[in-house]
Amino acid sequence: MKDTGLCNELRKLYNYVTRLGVGDWLPKKRKNRGRGKGGKGKESLVQCDLCGALVPRSKAKKITRTVSLIDPMLARELRQKGAIIPTYKITRYVCIRCAVFYGIVKIRPRSERKKRERLAL
Ligand SMILES: [Zn+2]
Repeated sequence: MKDTGLCNELRKLYNYVTRLGVGDWLPKKRKNRGRGKGGKGKESLVQCDLCGALVPRSKAKKITRTVSLIDPMLARELRQKGAIIPTYKITRYVCIRCAVFYGIVKIRPRSERKKRERLAL
């Protein structure tokens, strides 16, 4: 009973300090809290294609891949002769846990973190 009271007091203090805008000293693991939502409020959920978890859209990794039904060697020859080959895009969402587990995103040194790369799956 006493512990929860203390917790509530700490939470009140934390909220107060955060509201004052002097809470920069408080530990924060990521500047963007691990997502790209900003101050938007609520956002829609997407389902992870690997594990089925429902995750916020900005927290998930979006992987787009162009797929053709025709064999790539044959497609190249046909394209040289002027044929138009239909392709379609497959978009998959992967939750961040699966992305790390399957090596879609990897831990990078600080200097390489801001580089944007194509995600492959
Ligand atoms: Zn997943």
